[in-house]
Amino acid sequence: MALPDKQGHFGEFGGRYVPETLMTLLIDLEKQFKALNKNKAFRDEFAFYLREYAGRPTNLYFAERLGRHLKTLKVYLKREDLLHTGAHKINNTLGQVLVARRMGKTRIIAETGAGQHGVAAATTAALFGLECVIYMGAQDIKRQSLNVFRMKLLGAQVIPVTSGSRTLKDAMNEAIRDWVTRVRDTFYIIGSVAGPHPYPLMVREFQAVIGLEARKQFLAKERKLPDHLVACVGGGSNAMGLFHAFYKDKGVGMIGVEAAGKGLNTREHSATLKKGPVGVMHGSKSNLLQDKDGQVRVAHSVAAGLDYPGVGPEHAYYQKTGRAQYVAVDDKAAIRGFKMLSRLEGIIPALETAHALAYLETLARKSKKGTTVIVNLSGRGDKDVNTIQGIL
Ligand SMILES: *Cc1c(COP(=O)(O)O)cnc(C)c1O
Repeated sequence: MALPDKQGHFGEFGGRYVPETLMTLLIDLEKQFKALNKNKAFRDEFAFYLREYAGRPTNLYFAERLGRHLKTLKVYLKREDLLHTGAHKINNTLGQVLVARRMGKTRIIAETGAGQHGVAAATTAALFGLECVIYMGAQDIKRQSLNVFRMKLLGAQVIPVTSGSRTLKDAMNEAIRDWVTRVRDTFYIIGSVAGPHPYPLMVREFQAVIGLEARKQFLAKERKLPDHLVACVGGGSNAMGLFHAFYKDKGVGMIGVEAAGKGLNTREHSATLKKGPVGVMHGSKSNLLQDKDGQVRVAHSVAAGLDYPGVGPEHAYYQKTGRAQYVAVDDKAAIRGFKMLSRLEGIIPALETAHALAYLETLARKSKKGTTVIVNLSGRGDKDVNTIQGIL
């Protein structure tokens, strides 16, 4: 059976844990999305904007020098960093904005942590002349002033959220509140495969283009399927985007790389799948970083885009059923991965992506020669150069 089921469950995970007022909106959105997802005119329109505006298909690049350095691995990079705005997030915001337009909505709202999703949402709102409001934790606004400025340049209004930890999870709560009060003209664009049903499904479908392309490209180059897929996991959208097209290819291993921050035995990490008990946040059941009273904990990573205390329910399901394996890489190793790709291939990766790259060192040690890997190069690292400069 294709997952999720009718109530949005991936096994025990996912679902729709929301108050009644939100339920009607979600059921309506689900109906509209499912119809559009089967509608040829809509799919053609989405494909048109992915191609003409975002820059798809992205290359599947054979990283020969990186492979030689790692000795046992043949590494291919799926170049999502080459997309407009520099990361995979535009795939999803384009898809959701097109749904919003078909539903007759004129106002876009979104939550953002590091600001990457906010920028992608503001970009696509500008493209279609829609009003755009971005909720962002006051703490994050301080840390990510350049992205705040970008969103404003794009015509978006950025609203500081001062509740709770003043970070991403609080911004998401605030966006949900806004949505409930202004649903007539407003569409809420969630930035990852998280949140209540149908969001994990919808975001997966819009990001699945990554894996569909990569699978075809790899087959054309190697005449077989890869041994492993590797991607970093924050909320899980770039990883799910790569993994999903390979779900039924049982011989293809899937490895999601979380942020171990300052170490899995400290409180400062974002390894939700490895360390988080099952819980409910933002309308969805999944693994969740929480204290012993069930209060959500603040996540940490050197990569701002990975420090989300939750994770998409489909990943929780993949972990539980063993379809994918989840590992964690700490800040120090991620910085090594960042430098490694920059020097060996002339590609500066996002710090988020650097976690996936760093894991290749471990994978290489466990693999026999000629093992093939596709790494999702989820974003470019220009945004992180200042952070790295500070650390080095
Ligand atoms: C936001 C972001 C991530 C993390 O989000 P996912 O939903 O887990 O993909 C990873 N890489 C980059 C470049 C990002 O901007």
